[in-house]
Order: sequence, then structure tokens, then C-alpha cells
Amino acid sequence: MGGGLIGLASAWRLAQAGLRVAVYERGGFGGEASWAGAGMLAPGGEIEEPSDFASLALASRALYRAFVRELEAATRTEIDYQECGALDLAYSDDEWRALQHRAERQRALGIASKAVDPKQVAIFWPRVRTENLAGALFYPDDAIVNPRELCRSLVLACTKAAVELFSVSAVEQIHVSPNEATLYVKTITRKNRKVIIGRRFRAAVLAAGAWSSSIPVSGVPAPPAVEPVKGHLVGYQQPDQTCNTILRHGHTYLLQRANGLLIAGASVEHAGWDRSLDPAIAARLASEASFVLPHLAETTPSEIWIGFRPSSDHLQLGPWHSSALHLAYGHFRNGILLAPKTAADLASSLSRISRP
Ligand SMILES: Cc1cc2nc3c(=O)[nH]c(=O)nc-3n(C[C@H](O)[C@H](O)[C@H](O)COP(=O)(O)OP(=O)(O)OC[C@H]3O[C@@H](n4cnc5c(N)ncnc54)[C@H](O)[C@@H]3O)c2cc1C
Repeated sequence: MGGGLIGLASAWRLAQAGLRVAVYERGGFGGEASWAGAGMLAPGGEIEEPSDFASLALASRALYRAFVRELEAATRTEIDYQECGALDLAYSDDEWRALQHRAERQRALGIASKAVDPKQVAIFWPRVRTENLAGALFYPDDAIVNPRELCRSLVLACTKAAVELFSVSAVEQIHVSPNEATLYVKTITRKNRKVIIGRRFRAAVLAAGAWSSSIPVSGVPAPPAVEPVKGHLVGYQQPDQTCNTILRHGHTYLLQRANGLLIAGASVEHAGWDRSLDPAIAARLASEASFVLPHLAETTPSEIWIGFRPSSDHLQLGPWHSSALHLAYGHFRNGILLAPKTAADLASSLSRISRP
């Protein structure tokens, strides 16, 4: 349950593995974090140490091109996926030393990067600030994808693969017994009446992003907690090729989608479920963006939006005290990157249990 990127990608792979699949989504498909996310596929900016997360992230990054191409072919849609690399910028000697130190540790994990001197930055990235630029590192394997296009294509792919898709259908409760899970789903009838229906499945996948631990579960211990971590992003409509690479400086990143939207982010806020847009945070993001791309100071963002990253103590992926309940949440700031690998792992684990 949960029709974000993780739920949809998993449903598609499960259907391809020959299982009968239904997705219950409380609102519209791909309307929450998967709509809000910037779409960086960027182990270069995220991973510093070996960990289970690092292995999953690198494996998922390696699957991405084939995942997107397969989805495009299955749905005859185009998805904005760019193997554009990322440029990390250092504007002081301390920042430059820290970047080089990180790059050394990353090399041991197979994450490649290359030093670019400020003169080269001025030639290849003429809009980037070079005043006081101490050094830069280029990560050739980082990429971007438009997660809204991914979700749209996944809905089509799921439909073609005979996945039953239910929007405006909130799962209110899950009961797990040894060999099946019953979902109690609140939905609206054609006569506009709210009803709760119970439906039994051989297994349920809990993929409701930041809401995953707010759905009551009986029959097994409560699944691990997940909390929403709010993030603001700002967007500027800009001419093509204004930013042909991911740009990073400290916690700020910029990237440009094929539709021209140049995105800068992101805030990290522990603010519960507050959906309000904060003009002060947007102004700070815009100021940080125009530090890196000074021409942005002459314009104001055309869009501001927020989303809730699902944060748990670690990624929750796999069976939970029963083969009838699988977890797939807690992807925090990397759920777009991790979607292909999450879906592949779930399909392999669930297709094993469904075949005696
Ligand atoms: C500002 C921001 C920037 C980000 N940037 C990146 C990035 O650059 N790269 C990256 O890899 N990741 C990024 N992320 C993280 C990424 O967006 C998330 O990790 C990912 O989208 C999580 O996907 P999901 O399907 O688990 O959650 P969601 O997309 O939130 O989907 C969960 C779905 O479950 C539904 N749901 C909730 N309760 C119920 C219920 N009771 N019954 C049925 N359905 C329910 C919700 O309506 C929702 O549609 C970013 C996130 C934010 C907020």
C-alpha cells in the first residue's frame, strides 16, 4: 500500500514476476515525496563510508539506465533522465581539503571523481561563480531523473501489467495472520459514500513513505517508526542548458530538468506535518542558489514547494515477523535513487514466498 515511487515501482516488478498485485493509495499516485523530490541520483553527494545503504545505493544507481529505458519502452513515454554528472564546488581551502578527503574515501567504494581547476570551471561552466573558487570535483556517474515523469510512466506500466490501482483509497488498518494479510481500506463509493472494505492478500507491502508507521498493524509487532522530514525546494524557469550538470556547494544543490525548470534545494526541517510554504526558507535557498549561479540573483523563483522525506533509523526493507507483511519505507533523501533496487529486491523476495 502507498502509491509513491516505491509502491508503484515495486508493484510493476511484482506483476512482471507473475504475481497478482493491487496498489491502494490514499490520495493520487505519486503525489507526495515522489512528486516533491529533486531527482538526484547522486551517490557522489551522499555516500562517504561503506554501509548497507551505500551498497544498495550504488546497486540502484547501476540499474537506473536500464530501468528507465525498460519503462519508456513498456509505456511509449519519455522520461527525463540525464547522465549529467555533478560538480562539487569549494570556495575556501578548508572546503577544498574536505572535498578531497571525501573523494579519497569514496574512491575505495568505487565512486569516481576528478579534480577540475577553477580555470576549467570558468570555461565549461561559465555561469558558475569562480570568484574565490578554491577547487572543484566532477563526479561523472551522478545523474538526474524527473520523478514526476517516472511516477506517471509507472502508473501506465502498472495498468498494462494488470496491477489493480486504487486511488483515494486509504489503508486504515492491516491485520497479519501467519499466511495472509487483511487490509481495511477506506474508499468512496460511486454514490459518494465512505465505506471500509476488508481485502485479503497472501502478502502486503507497507510502502506509505513518511506515513508508514501511522497505519495500525495487528498480528505482528508494530513496524519501526518513521517520521516526516520536511524539505522546501525552489524552482526557476530558465533557458535550456543553464545548468547542464548537478552543482553542489555545501548543503546546496542545483540541477535543471529537460523542461527548463532549474531546481535549488533543499531545507531539512523537523516540523511534523506542517505543509505551509515558508518565504524565509525559500529566500535562503534562493540566496544560496545565487551564490553558486550569480545570474539567479536577478530573478525570483517561479515555484516553491515542499515534501516529506520518510526518515527511519534505517531503511526498512523486507519481511516483518511474517512472510505476509513486507516493509519498504524509510528511504529518506534517496528514495528516487533507491527505487529500482528496492523494487527488484521486493519482487525477488515476494515471488519466492508466493511459490511453495
Ligand atoms: C525536498 C525533497 C527532495 C528530495 N530529493 C531527492 C533526490 O534528489 N533524490 C532522491 O533519491 N530522493 C530525494 N528525495 C526523497 C524521495 O523523494 C523519497 O525518499 C521517495 O519519494 C519516497 O518514496 P515513497 O514512495 O516511499 O514515499 P511517497 O512518495 O511519499 O509515497 C507514499 C505514498 O503513500 C501514500 N499513503 C500514505 N498513507 C497511506 C494510507 N494509509 N493508505 C494508502 N496510501 C497511503 C501517500 O499518499 C503517498 O502517495 C527528496 C525528498 C524531498 C521531500
